[in-house]
Amino acid sequence: MVILQQGDYVWLDLKTGREFDVPVGAVVKLSDSGQIQVLDDEGREHWIFPQNATNIKPMHPTSIHGVEDMIRLGDLNEAGILRNLLIRYNEHVIYTYTGSILVAVNPYQLLPIYTPDQIRLYTNKKIGEMPPHIFAIADNCYFNMQRNNKDQCCIISGESGAGKTESTKLILQFLAAISGQHSWIEQQVLEATPILEAFGNAKTIRNDNSSRFGKYIDIHFNKRGAIEGAKIEQYLLEKSRVCRQAPDERNYHVFYCMLKGMAPEMKAKLGLGLATDYSYLTMGNCTECDGRNDLREYSSILSAMKVLMFTETETWEISKLLAAILHMGNLRFEARTYENLDACVVVRSPDLATAASLMEVEPKDVMVCLTTRTLITRGESVTTPLSMNQGLDVRDAFVKGIYGRLFVWIVDKINAAIYRPPSCESSLIRRSIGLLDIFGFENFFVNSFEQLCINFANENLQQFFVRHVFKLEQEEYNLEDISWQHIEFTDNQDALDMIANKPMNIISLIDEESKFPKGTDATMLYKLNSQHKLNSNYIPPKNSYETQFGIQHFAGVVHYESRGFLEKNRDSLHTDIIQLVHSSRNKFIKQIFQADVAMGVETRKRSPTLSSQFKRSLEMLMRTLSVCQPFFVRCIKPNELKKPMLFDRELCIRQLRYSGMMETIRIRRAGYPIRYSFAEFVDRYRVLMPGIKPAHLQEDLRGTCQQIVTARLGKQEDWQIGKTKIFLKDHHDMQLEIDRDKAI
Ligand code: ADP
Ligand code: MG
Repeated sequence: MVILQQGDYVWLDLKTGREFDVPVGAVVKLSDSGQIQVLDDEGREHWIFPQNATNIKPMHPTSIHGVEDMIRLGDLNEAGILRNLLIRYNEHVIYTYTGSILVAVNPYQLLPIYTPDQIRLYTNKKIGEMPPHIFAIADNCYFNMQRNNKDQCCIISGESGAGKTESTKLILQFLAAISGQHSWIEQQVLEATPILEAFGNAKTIRNDNSSRFGKYIDIHFNKRGAIEGAKIEQYLLEKSRVCRQAPDERNYHVFYCMLKGMAPEMKAKLGLGLATDYSYLTMGNCTECDGRNDLREYSSILSAMKVLMFTETETWEISKLLAAILHMGNLRFEARTYENLDACVVVRSPDLATAASLMEVEPKDVMVCLTTRTLITRGESVTTPLSMNQGLDVRDAFVKGIYGRLFVWIVDKINAAIYRPPSCESSLIRRSIGLLDIFGFENFFVNSFEQLCINFANENLQQFFVRHVFKLEQEEYNLEDISWQHIEFTDNQDALDMIANKPMNIISLIDEESKFPKGTDATMLYKLNSQHKLNSNYIPPKNSYETQFGIQHFAGVVHYESRGFLEKNRDSLHTDIIQLVHSSRNKFIKQIFQADVAMGVETRKRSPTLSSQFKRSLEMLMRTLSVCQPFFVRCIKPNELKKPMLFDRELCIRQLRYSGMMETIRIRRAGYPIRYSFAEFVDRYRVLMPGIKPAHLQEDLRGTCQQIVTARLGKQEDWQIGKTKIFLKDHHDMQLEIDRDKAI
């Protein structure tokens, strides 16, 4: 056993055997006749006896006080990473680098680090010149965009509540500040956020402001580097929330804001009361959210809508639909029997009359639509009654249909204000920075079709990360023939192939079954099983009664409940509903349903399913990302209680492990994240050595590069020259850039 003295730092392995437990840091308090007493990072004391000496190891000096860039950690293991984040977090330092990847631990409290002064401090700096910060990433995106004349993207990942949306907003805020002139367009881009959050965010048990949709904001810059416009892409809003909320969760913010903030006379016109009056707002038994002020939010939503050119009429029409939704939710159904069939009626009530009048349809038509179904068989139309449960389902499907289309319309409306299609001339010089804030990996007690889509998206992003950080990187080292020791990594390509790429993949089987008239959730499950039961990433149901199947995702196994899959995937509204909308005199509702009304019955049946639409938009996203230079921000949620200064070690280790942080650090440490072609390098850095001609006048570019880099960075240093490119570490790039700034 090493001789330990008081004050020495050690790693203490408590050997709990728990999956997400790792050795904890500790300091020696007493060392006496073979026995030592240590105090661990959690404040617990332990006595270590000589026979347990293997439990304790000295700590590398870099781990004692922590490092800004985890590449520099001497103890390159999970315990080292965890402790590094912990001791910084305890000092309110939430940002840490792994090379140029930023790790952000959610502080759950406002830190004074986002002031205009801070923005100035981080403007035009190299990564590493200042302490790690989300602003440094934003500044680098901006700088790289201009230096390399290449589009940039920032992929912000993490679990729900980890801080993705806040990080996105901070980057946006920084970019707006440094791009310039406090212009109208900048303000419009910023004001899109409160609208999107009002309609797309809600309080959940994980996050009081949880985004229930994914988004990609592409910000466009003109050649002077000023914001010229932006475009927002949205993904997969969780529509079911409009009708149902889990305990302690809320519906979308906008409903509560409207009920708190709208003027009484306007509320009267919409027949509105208090949030507690509506069953759609009270399923989670929670209408208030600590720390949110629905009243104040309402006025900021309205002013944001003005900034984004929503007309008064449009805003009012939106309110009418929101109100109609609430009234629909209060409809009462009663069960009946009709010629021995289960049937139902809607009880006549003011809610029915109001909902119908807001949608400008006949109350009678609403009633018929929610209680019967018309089928056209061999040219004859047959009307059958719906049972009470079917009636309720139709009602909910209608409401979800309205809200989902309303959300899409709102995003389109925002884009109409902020998006300027590139003119021929500007498309050549326009550059962009894209910010991806998409739902993190989900694994709940019960997981359904939505979780499959969300986790499928995350598999894609993980693959993008793996490809970028591990695969392409190492392929290039080999191609360029520099000396390199291969680094192993966990590749999720096989899981992704099984879900969406290989023939008969899971998504395509679900889709096929959704289109098949006789398809049911059970036949779908049967097909999944027979196709994939031998795949190691697939976990078949335990027996023939079991309706769940599992998938081994990169972030762990998730079991999916197959019941309800097809219905959700078909995502179709019955013709009766479309007819009802068609009969409306309300232009707005007709407009948001325009595409549906335009389609004939047959086309609608064949209209794309949810999963195929989602798959297509993901493919487009991945294509966009693949032509950008990416930055990665990994958000970490330190505890499940939304509390400041509480660091749950196991929760954090789980997130770090699944995000591949260990391997990332290893490759970033060994690798060369910065590379230039010889010509680029000579032209950028020839100012550092007098007398060197521009690249196009050089005969031996490689030799010239070698000359510059040896002179500036030293011979034995850790840079490499390949066949066509020169490879540098982040800190070398920074050093060269600083020297260059001084020289010009
Ligand atoms: P996600 O989008 O990953 O689900 P959010 O960005 O909505 O998570 O963050 C959840 C909550 O955590 C926020 O509402 C805020 O209270 C807090 N939070 C996140 N990031 C920060 C930060 N940088 N500073 C202060 N609070 C933060
Ligand atoms: Mg979010």
